[in-house]
Amino acid sequence: MNKEIFLCSICNINSGTCLEDCKFCSQSVRYKADIDRYKQKDIKLIKEEAINARDNGALGFCLVTADKGLNAKTLEFVCSVAKSVTEVAPELRLIACNGTATLEQLLTLKEAGVKAYNHNLETSEAFYPQICTTHPWSERYETCQNVNKAGLTLITGGIFGLGETQEDRESMLKSLASLNPTSVPINFYHHNEALELQPNPLKVDEALALVQLTRDSIPNAQRIMVAGGRELMFGDRQEEIFKHGANSIVIGNYLTTAGRVMSKDLDMLKKLSLKVATKV
Ligand code: SF4
Repeated sequence: MNKEIFLCSICNINSGTCLEDCKFCSQSVRYKADIDRYKQKDIKLIKEEAINARDNGALGFCLVTADKGLNAKTLEFVCSVAKSVTEVAPELRLIACNGTATLEQLLTLKEAGVKAYNHNLETSEAFYPQICTTHPWSERYETCQNVNKAGLTLITGGIFGLGETQEDRESMLKSLASLNPTSVPINFYHHNEALELQPNPLKVDEALALVQLTRDSIPNAQRIMVAGGRELMFGDRQEEIFKHGANSIVIGNYLTTAGRVMSKDLDMLKKLSLKVATKV
């Protein structure tokens, strides 16, 4: 295979404090999942994680907060983290993922050095009320439109395996394509026993077909990223995602679940003769 793979690392700078009720999310306080919960991660730790990600080939470093959206305090925190990370690892392309955001808030992040914003549609507009009742799908779509207006790189995707139909998946992909994203992260539901949702019913071949469907449905996206749930969903068939259109992965840990050690992913890419991308 002769393609470059983009690596991205995510850093949960505020964890498990969200009041919303997204049924797939262990960061909601409602479900009392057994995860780490904190308001602000220590900046020293964040900088260490950034340096480690860069040293393992990550191009993107994503600052994630667990909340419905930005408020003045969170915005200030994300901006200060962005500036600190830029000081120690200027090579990293900073991504913010902080929920619903206004155009003004996004422009403030941009000024602080953030280059891209990630906000997922999660699923189809029709299915969304079954997985979240505390905010509408339309707010998610509007935030993505704001990202485009702000001139930030748009990263938006969704999650499969929530009990949605194939029609819902196709509808979500159509909505994503209409936003013209640069990168499309797709996640596969990783069940936590504290959550009400049934475990992800997808089989590996179905999940690989969904990676390919995402690639085919959003041909203008530069990157199709397989993000959360990769190890659990694909097991020892993870390598096959690259033959089905994926050209980006998250390395290291996810928000509330452990990923593989970064060196294992680097070994996998080497074995497949896939190069790690060094620029976007
Ligand atoms: S808004 Fe985001 S952090 Fe909050 S419960 Fe939903 S997915 Fe989780």
